[in-house]
Amino acid sequence: MSSATEASSRRAELAANLAAVRARMVAAARAAGRDPAELTLVAVTKTFPASDVALLAGLGVADVGENRAQEAATKHAEVGSPPRWHFVGTLQRNKAALVASFADVIHSVDRVELVTALDRAAHGPLDVLLQVSLDGAPGRGGAPLADVPRLADAVAAADHLTLRGVMAVAPLGADPAAAFGRLAEAAARLRADHPGATWISAGMSGDLEAAVAAGATHVRIGTALLGRREPQVG
Ligand SMILES: *Cc1c(COP(=O)(O)O)cnc(C)c1O
Repeated sequence: MSSATEASSRRAELAANLAAVRARMVAAARAAGRDPAELTLVAVTKTFPASDVALLAGLGVADVGENRAQEAATKHAEVGSPPRWHFVGTLQRNKAALVASFADVIHSVDRVELVTALDRAAHGPLDVLLQVSLDGAPGRGGAPLADVPRLADAVAAADHLTLRGVMAVAPLGADPAAAFGRLAEAAARLRADHPGATWISAGMSGDLEAAVAAGATHVRIGTALLGRREPQVG
């Protein structure tokens, strides 16, 4: 196949997957009695090439997500903005400046030291979500629920950061509906102190319906849009 033919067949594949994902989002919103317009699709393009990001942007995807700082920076250098770039992975403090140089939204703030590092590195306003751990298991990122008020106050006090809400990944092997219910309660408690923090980033390819039922505003979809990934190394 010529590379032009390959690009057009990949474009057709992504267009079909995108239509299916959007249909799932609309159905999930209606089933929950919600307006589908409340939902933002973040296409998680990790491990896939910058050309896929460009194709998705051309198909009308306005938001893309990445989970590795250097991989994301390289793709951003190729594709540019728009789309809006969301960083959804575990963030090391020494990568905060790199991520702040291209990202519009960081979903994975879970420690005060990251708040400080991002605020120092940010050039313009940077949207921030607090990642919470729904199972208390260490290693997959996320702050304990008890830390949310202190983290929220730190973000709200930062000069360049805008507190948008909360993010979580459903625990492995557990009922996602129950986990997303705990996230929705945390989001409501956060809004009581910070009324502008209205975003709930939850739901992936396997559990977007449960997340939308629990009030998710931003779903992060990789596999259902782009296909199966090779395992990430390192
Ligand atoms: C990879 C990833 C996703 C997308 O997961 P899929 O199951 O492929 O849809 C969403 N959120 C985060 C934080 C991820 O790392």
